[in-house]
Amino acid sequence: MPRQFAVPAPESPAVAIARTRRVFPVHRIYCVGRNYAEHAREMGNDPTREPPFFFAKPADAILPSGVDVPYPPRTANLHHEIELVVALGRGGRNIPLDEALQTVFGYAVGNDLTRRDLQAAAKGQGRPWDTAKGFDASAPITPIRPMDQVDHITRGRIWLEVNGVLRQEGDVADMIWSVPEIIAELSTYFELRPGDLIFTGTPAGVGPLLPGDVVHGGVDGVGTLEHGVVAA
Ligand code: MN
Repeated sequence: MPRQFAVPAPESPAVAIARTRRVFPVHRIYCVGRNYAEHAREMGNDPTREPPFFFAKPADAILPSGVDVPYPPRTANLHHEIELVVALGRGGRNIPLDEALQTVFGYAVGNDLTRRDLQAAAKGQGRPWDTAKGFDASAPITPIRPMDQVDHITRGRIWLEVNGVLRQEGDVADMIWSVPEIIAELSTYFELRPGDLIFTGTPAGVGPLLPGDVVHGGVDGVGTLEHGVVAA
């Protein structure tokens, strides 16, 4: 007997895979905070004293590239954070560093949208970041490039423009934790699963978005994310 759900069961969130009709089912979205030294400094932190750390967004926060982001409620300071995203095709616990890249299904580009005013308030009060980071449509993402289309990403320009004006620019080589280090470290906290996405942190230059803005951002060799921001 199939299970009888008492309320309508949610659909599995899924991300497109470039050049295929198959989709990538999203199990969880993990995020790395302060993984670029310059961004840590612009947020008022000392990257030499505080290593990066993890937080999460709900799986259904994803939004396909090309779809407008509705300006979220309860904020007056929505920020962009362009990031390299790792999609896992395999999982595990306590994954050794030298085996970590074997879990990678592919790479994408995402925008870790943030209600910066709520985040600042949460930091000040020692409260969780969920309302700042995990809101609806807070994770626009490009189609995933699987490993038969790309090499592992160890360097490459990462950038974001708002209305054609460059806001963020860096190089993936400047990440404090590399992709294998992120996977190995994250797997000591959680059992990783196929379908997990990891947003790997943002370079310096984060800033506000307003209704009417058009965002373009990318990582060389991975893809270009594009979305508008519209009044809700
Ligand atoms: Mn981020």
